[in-house]
Amino acid sequence: MIEISHVRKSYTMGETQVDALLDINLKIDDGDFVAIMGPSGSGKSTLMHIMGLLDVPSEGSYKLHGREVSKLSEDDLAVLRRDEIGFIFQQFNLLPRMPAWQNISLPLLYSEKKFDQKKAYQLLERVHLESRSEHNPNELSGGQQQRVAIARSLINSPRILFADEPTGNLDSKSEVEIMDILKDLNSQGITLVIVTHEEEIGAQAKRLIRMRDGVIQSDERRAPLPEIKKNHLSEQSLKTKFHFGELIEHFHQGYRTLQSNKVRSALSMLGILIGVAAVVTMLALGRGAQKAIEKQLASLGSNLLVLRAGSIRVGGVVQESGVRIRISTEDVAVLRAQISDIREAAPNVQGRVQATYLNKNWNTTALGVSPAFTKIRSSEPTMGRFFSDSENQKRALVAVIGMTVVRELFGDKNPLGEFIKINRINFQIIGVLPEKGAQGPMDQDDRIVIPVQTGMYRLFGKDYLDSVDIEVVSPDKLDTVQDSIKEVLNKRHRVPVSAQSDSFQIFNMADLQSALSESSKTMSMLLSSIAAISLLVGGIGIMNIMLVSVTERTREIGLRKAVGARKFDIMMQFLAESIVVSVIGGLLGLMLAWGVTVSLAKTLGWPMTITLDSVMISFFFSVFIGIIFGIYPAKKASDLHPIDALRHE
Ligand code: ADP
Ligand code: MG
Repeated sequence: MIEISHVRKSYTMGETQVDALLDINLKIDDGDFVAIMGPSGSGKSTLMHIMGLLDVPSEGSYKLHGREVSKLSEDDLAVLRRDEIGFIFQQFNLLPRMPAWQNISLPLLYSEKKFDQKKAYQLLERVHLESRSEHNPNELSGGQQQRVAIARSLINSPRILFADEPTGNLDSKSEVEIMDILKDLNSQGITLVIVTHEEEIGAQAKRLIRMRDGVIQSDERRAPLPEIKKNHLSEQSLKTKFHFGELIEHFHQGYRTLQSNKVRSALSMLGILIGVAAVVTMLALGRGAQKAIEKQLASLGSNLLVLRAGSIRVGGVVQESGVRIRISTEDVAVLRAQISDIREAAPNVQGRVQATYLNKNWNTTALGVSPAFTKIRSSEPTMGRFFSDSENQKRALVAVIGMTVVRELFGDKNPLGEFIKINRINFQIIGVLPEKGAQGPMDQDDRIVIPVQTGMYRLFGKDYLDSVDIEVVSPDKLDTVQDSIKEVLNKRHRVPVSAQSDSFQIFNMADLQSALSESSKTMSMLLSSIAAISLLVGGIGIMNIMLVSVTERTREIGLRKAVGARKFDIMMQFLAESIVVSVIGGLLGLMLAWGVTVSLAKTLGWPMTITLDSVMISFFFSVFIGIIFGIYPAKKASDLHPIDALRHE
């Protein structure tokens, strides 16, 4: 039973106030069939919306089945709409991309009743549309759509049906069908309130109310009220428990919505896809670079010092030729003799040379070293042998060559024992160096190694060394050895105290190593944060699309609320949608990253791997982005007032 007393409703539009309803008093009994008539603008719809709990009165009291409902919260009203009321609209308000049976089942999504497909089919039968269950609304006539809408209004077995000009958009044949169904429902005990401007329809009602300018003008009983048990609404809480099935259904529907809008969904996924792919690839790239550098440095040894001659400065001016300090082989011998913590000292000379074998020429680097080279640089020949100390002393014309030189000069031929010309001097090949692989721009296999004495006196014609590799007994002795070397050399060369800081350069491999790995770490952090920014941009893309989607589907939101969706339900629906976008985008991004990483690893020769943690990070990050950037649009959607949303064009 409906009991309305002193209800007013006014709308403020800018400065002016429109009074849609002025002091309405009305009682409607259970089982009645009431028609409301009146000219356009007289307040019929406004009254219906208040009675149907889609809108609240500005003033006055409304009791539904004995319970005051005019001041209930929006969510409480949603629960009442769902359980007690069916609403039929002039424009049908079916969801366009859903078959008839799903449109009918929609209110079940928001109720605690079991989602039962059978019930939808029973209702389809009741409105004589059993053959149209799989048809979408655009494949149905107006009359058929309205019958689907009636079936939808009945799915939660309401006790009252409100219909606002249900036949206003229909031809006269459909009008008769619809009215027959509605009258049949009323005869089964459902209270029926119908707004119409057609006298014939008004004439079929048991009670006819006429309105004008927001007041009831006349109220006429035309047929007796049937005897029927009075309904009562308990005062129990209207809270609805959340059920998991609803969540799954939201994701399901979110997925379907995206499917029906393929291009747009793909575009909004693209941002997340690129973002995730970039983050994962950058992390893998950074780690790969770091590993490559570490590997290269490890092959140099961590307790290695490299000594190079510097230059004497006098009064801050670098003194050029003549006063340059040159390290001799004697210096190396003295260092080894005086500093006990030096395990090995390997003198080096080097220069660009041209190597010739038969008619083949190859420009490469010749490296003059001592036999200690094999240990310090872990370069024991894979084929043949290294030269001996006596060969070094005798300045023998022997060479050990790298694989690149082998390929360029000999192809598949065995080079051992062959003679090549290095800068027109004959050398015999006695060994081949182990292959180190191209690491970065420097090809460590493109070199010819010869005895240092041969290099100095026979090939390059100089009596000084370019550098000395010094292996220290243990890494913690690096600093003291470094200081001792400076002291010994400065004394031997009588370097003035003022110039001693610049007289030699000593590179500490351990320092170099940590500096390099530090900078590669910084680099990969930088790259990943740039990639993360693209993920953020992807998120903003999703938000943008979601906001468009909310605006586009305002009427849909209104309809969902009208059939019982609470704020939370609408929120979940849109969040589910944005999470589906971002997660699918994220997964595709991971696949892309995997492809890119594998092919990059192949071309660069880096040990690049996608690690589980970077996968997890980017996956959760994309879910997170879906939630963060979905919340605002979802909130915006859930805050819409049902009747405003339904009126939206
Ligand atoms: P009916 O359904 O009888 O044609 P309505 O109930 O729709 O009339 O409208 C009653 C009056 O209230 C009209 O003057 C209309 O302009 C006004 N009105 C209805 N809805 C709104 C609204 N959302 N904002 C402002 N005025 C409104
Ligand atoms: Mg109206």
